[in-house]
Amino acid sequence: MIRLSEDNRECVLSCEIFPPKKDAGFPKVYEVVDSIAALKPAFISVTYGAGGSNSGKQLEIVDYIQNKTNVEALAHITSVGFGKKDLEKCLNDFEEKGVKNVLALRGDRPRDMSDERFSSREFEHATDMISYMRDSGRDRDSLFIAGACYPEKHPEAPDKPTDIYFLKKKQDCGCDLLISQLFFDNSFFYRFLEYTEKNDITIPVHAGIMPIVDANMLGRTVTLSGTSVPKKLADLCANYGDDPEEMKKAGLDYAINQAVDLASNGVHGIHVYAMNKPDICKAIFDAVREG
Ligand code: FAD
Repeated sequence: MIRLSEDNRECVLSCEIFPPKKDAGFPKVYEVVDSIAALKPAFISVTYGAGGSNSGKQLEIVDYIQNKTNVEALAHITSVGFGKKDLEKCLNDFEEKGVKNVLALRGDRPRDMSDERFSSREFEHATDMISYMRDSGRDRDSLFIAGACYPEKHPEAPDKPTDIYFLKKKQDCGCDLLISQLFFDNSFFYRFLEYTEKNDITIPVHAGIMPIVDANMLGRTVTLSGTSVPKKLADLCANYGDDPEEMKKAGLDYAINQAVDLASNGVHGIHVYAMNKPDICKAIFDAVREG
């Protein structure tokens, strides 16, 4: 099970990977896991397609991480298209493989899901799933539960106070850790941390960092996350966008600077959205560890 240091002195490093969309990419994902595991992250999280599109593949990957490497696996679960029976089956499957860490998410409506089906989900919010897991006897010693948070607020939240109110509820329902949405301006994260503290959120909050290593990624990422783009990053994409090598270098440098600044300002942890690229993860981990 994931154990986070009590004194929070050390910046915990972790990363996210995703199951390949095509079966042909499947053998390679184990090479990716091995290379990332060699970097000794505290955990590797594996995404889950809302609606259950990649559940089988996710199970195989978390099984591999948990049992074939020395790293803890954190399995994402989403409540969209996922009722109590599905959750029970999923938790039993994880338990059988020794996976005791989940990231409980609501998920977004998949393109092919009707509004009606999306709205009639059994667990309306991540908080409902977390309460269910705790109320069904899975205490903090048997299941580690993480949740998501949004330094620039969740796009659907009417305002920051409402969003933080429900975030506090996540903690009260039994969440052990918060992992943030990606952001490109650290000042948002620092303000968010102050705000969480003022609102009695005491569980660790890890910062989500995604390097923009390809200029086309920026538009897609912003559309999906609603994250603001500082002028410096927009300029960098404009200047290097046509040169893939230089763009990768500049985008990675930007993310490294963000990560080193976060670690030197005492954040509890950095979660790298690694996009199945171990070299990206290594560059960021090395820079943070070297200080
Ligand atoms: P919630 O916590 O339910 O919040 C959604 C909205 O509802 C917010 O506006 C919040 O303020 C409000 N709210 C929260 N609780 C309540 C409540 N009890 N009552 C009323 N309102 C409430 N998506 C995937 O499909 N697969 C993944 O693997 C995946 N991994 C992710 C990993 C991280 C670290 C992050 C940050 C996001 C990830 N997502 C993933 C995206 C995520 O599913 C979406 O951002 C989704 O829109 C919200 O999920 P949530 O768990 O934060 O939702």
